[in-house]
Amino acid sequence: MIIHDIYQAPFIKEMQEVTENLWKNGWDERNGGNISYLLDEEEVRLYLDIDAAINQKQLDFEVPELANRIFLVSASGSYFKNICQNPTKNLAIVKLDGTGSSYKVLWGLEGGGLPTSEFASHLKCHAVRLAEDKNHRVILHCHSIAVSAMTFVHDLDENKFTRSLWEMITECLVVFPDGVSVLPWMVAGTVKLGLASAEKMHDSRVVIWPHHGIMGAGQSMDDAFGLVETVEKAADIYMKVVGVPGGFKQKITSDQLWDLADQFGVTPKAGILEARSKK
Ligand SMILES: [Zn+2]
Repeated sequence: MIIHDIYQAPFIKEMQEVTENLWKNGWDERNGGNISYLLDEEEVRLYLDIDAAINQKQLDFEVPELANRIFLVSASGSYFKNICQNPTKNLAIVKLDGTGSSYKVLWGLEGGGLPTSEFASHLKCHAVRLAEDKNHRVILHCHSIAVSAMTFVHDLDENKFTRSLWEMITECLVVFPDGVSVLPWMVAGTVKLGLASAEKMHDSRVVIWPHHGIMGAGQSMDDAFGLVETVEKAADIYMKVVGVPGGFKQKITSDQLWDLADQFGVTPKAGILEARSKK
């Protein structure tokens, strides 16, 4: 039974807030960026009749792991700048069928349209993250500035990239001990990019697309946003330091990073830090 106005739904408000913040940070110009949020069916029932579909669309791939799951997702071509003002036009709530091969639109896409063209990437990434973490909920992609800048000047080896980020802010290792993955440059909006990103998400919740942007996963909006925000800030510091004549004079050392790992009880991704030089 529907008992509430959907505009009062926490998941709509969270989506409005996070997309506005992403836009204000300059990470989602024009129609750049996309986001999807796995919703709890019982919560959605408070706001929508989940058996009353607006229309049904076939997916050009199957994601059986996500059968019957419900997502709140940004619309294809939508501007994050506009989501807060007009969520009904720029968002969609969709429910996958029992085989994960089609979806019905339950709400949104007012005036027509489709979920983000990166929906394939998102669904594949959700499936992988859920297999790794049953509390996973959010996939977001944005054009964060410093991360993209760093892909022009830093080696694209993902272990070296991770190490450089960990060295920039003391808390980085604690926030993303699983490191970051880095793909080769690929054409945006393709299933190939989606599958490659999903494959990487087995190992880390951050996938960097060189000269393009970043994809992040999280258990909540705050978690996914905070993860991307931390990686972006570390990259920003890296870019500021390499832009100074003389560059780095010192960094957080490997032993100091091990001390951090001990203090916070995290396990750094293997193969990045040198063996400890002290007890
Ligand atoms: Zn993009």
